[in-house]
Amino acid sequence: QATLKSDVKHPYPDWKAGEPVPYAALCQTFSLVELTTKRLEIMAHCALFLRQVLRLTPEDLLPTVLLMVNKLAPDYAGIELGIGESLIMKAIGESTGRSVAIIKQDQKEIGDLGLVAVKSRSTQPTMFKPKPLAIRGVLKGLLGIATVTGNGAQGRKVDGIKKLLSAADASGGKVDITKDKGGASEAKYLIRFLEGKLRLGLAEKTVIVSLAQAVVAHEATQKGKVPDTSDIEKGEAILKTVYSELPSYDVIIPAMVEHGIMNLREYCKLRPGVPLKPMLANPTKAITEVLDRFEGRNFTCEYKYDGERAQIHYVAKDAQEDLSQSTSNASKEVGKGVASIFSRNSEDLSKKYPDILAKLPTWVKEDTKSFVLDCESVAWDIDEKKVLPFQQLMTRKKKDVKIEDVKVKVCVFAFDLLYLNGEAVVTKSLRERRELLHKSFTPVEGEFAFATCMNGQELDEIQVFLDESVKASCEGLMVKMLDGEESGYEPSKRSRNWLKIKKDYLAGIGDSLDLVVLGAYHGKGKRTSVYGAFLLACYNPNLDSYETVCNIGTGFTEVVLEELYNQLSKIVIDRPKPFYAHSSGGQHQPDVWFEPKYVWEVKTADLTLSPRYKAGMKEGVDPSGEKGISLRFPRFIKIRDDKKADEATTSRQVAEMYRKQESVSKNKGPAVDDNF
Ligand code: ATP
Repeated sequence: QATLKSDVKHPYPDWKAGEPVPYAALCQTFSLVELTTKRLEIMAHCALFLRQVLRLTPEDLLPTVLLMVNKLAPDYAGIELGIGESLIMKAIGESTGRSVAIIKQDQKEIGDLGLVAVKSRSTQPTMFKPKPLAIRGVLKGLLGIATVTGNGAQGRKVDGIKKLLSAADASGGKVDITKDKGGASEAKYLIRFLEGKLRLGLAEKTVIVSLAQAVVAHEATQKGKVPDTSDIEKGEAILKTVYSELPSYDVIIPAMVEHGIMNLREYCKLRPGVPLKPMLANPTKAITEVLDRFEGRNFTCEYKYDGERAQIHYVAKDAQEDLSQSTSNASKEVGKGVASIFSRNSEDLSKKYPDILAKLPTWVKEDTKSFVLDCESVAWDIDEKKVLPFQQLMTRKKKDVKIEDVKVKVCVFAFDLLYLNGEAVVTKSLRERRELLHKSFTPVEGEFAFATCMNGQELDEIQVFLDESVKASCEGLMVKMLDGEESGYEPSKRSRNWLKIKKDYLAGIGDSLDLVVLGAYHGKGKRTSVYGAFLLACYNPNLDSYETVCNIGTGFTEVVLEELYNQLSKIVIDRPKPFYAHSSGGQHQPDVWFEPKYVWEVKTADLTLSPRYKAGMKEGVDPSGEKGISLRFPRFIKIRDDKKADEATTSRQVAEMYRKQESVSKNKGPAVDDNF
């Protein structure tokens, strides 16, 4: 906290109050962050810098935060850079007068294109001193690159990168490319931003907390006070809640600067049109574990449908709600209103499910003027009138679906209501939300239904309900707190108030894992033309790294292997990324490495310790500190298209599963906490 109390000084004479914040100042902060792994220190560096921005140039706070979290816009805006490694190499080559072959060679040796850019720039004589980059200019340049479309888009993207690169200071004083640490080189961070990973160990939640600290400190200073700890804690809690209900810095930051952080909740509320991050559940191994957890409190069970999460937003035209501010452009006109559908990751699904949107007016009651629904969209067999397996749903096209071409019909199963008629209802109890849900919509067979639920509290009843859910082609049950404050909807949290029991848990370990494919081995025998086995990893959000957890070669059909080959051969890279934690040395190396992109769901018989894998090594499961956790007899289940690599199972979750299995904690250990 020392940094919050001290007066703010900044080392950039060119940066005067009201003038654009130099990009170099941000890079300086990045370089300090890069030199430490301690979260508190990282937070102090970020908070100090954000406080300087607030004091000198508050209008640059938004672009500064966006560049810190490696985002150009909110997730739902769907703005992506769409740049591959080869395009970046081309731009580095062209802007520094070096051939792509040499850049490739450097990339092989150094393994980080950011540092390759630094090296390329340092060998290039500078003819004139370019005008220094400003944060707002960099963001504008990057947005320009992201939004280029049409003929010759690739070429214009390269031009955009070249323009930024040639204005970037490469050296930043003291970059040591052999150590990959330190040095505030603008070129390095620009390139890493373009690659989508700043690799600073700077998680978004850390930026949010630092931002809250900076704002509280700034507001206190303005009043001639020293910020006290309780204000800082209050500010952090407010910002985290607001961001979870309205994940849009574009709305939150200007409101915070104008009205102050303590009043933020009044101005930034959940609203239709802006998707919120969904509430998630914790896995359990047995019904008895559920009973232990909810002991003495009312809970409810629902079928756990196996489809795709769908958050449906709607506002009737006569709802008289002012939604002019920041709604997503995913909204489509339906009946007498405007609706949108978002995925678990806040991506726009309206082009995938025009059939849902078309039917929506038939299940919305007359008095229901606006809402946000949490649902699962599930493949539906119209002849047999029953749920179809998830695999059927996956065969649907993802974009530009035309209603007349839809072969796999879907039924929407609604299980929660987050907003109704102009008001967020997330803090109401689940019992109340469910009542409102049932009152506000009309089920339509095979198109819209309420999730089947049962409020019985006895083990036998739950067992019967679980069996019924399995017969109804569901994955198992969701068990949720029903009454009281704890049963409120907790956006973006993996909560202990929602537990899942999957039918398969009851045998093997608690849950399947969602793992990232890092590498592959060439197939032998029948599999010679495809990859025969793969190297998988979990994600460590604290270090922003991928830790290997197993090799897998089981569970694939020939068709799937071919499909995977086509998909993965496009993202082969020359060498492992520096943020891959893997064993080095001959037989443990895969034949090819991949970008960290695809997530697969995998089941395992059990977990074991192995010197060959790195998962959870920092979680203290192996007293010698030499072994990681690995999966025994892993089996491929499916591709998780709805998860990004950094949403894979975390090292901590793997360690928790291992501990549970070893019954070290006898089911009484702390819940897996991957929340803020
Ligand atoms: P999983 O692999 O189990 O889907 P996940 O990480 O995607 O894991 P979890 O929180 O673990 O998400 O499981 C909840 C998911 O189950 C939700 O994201 C939702 O898509 C789905 N689901 C199906 N039925 C329900 C229900 N009745 N209530 C809540 N979620 C449900």
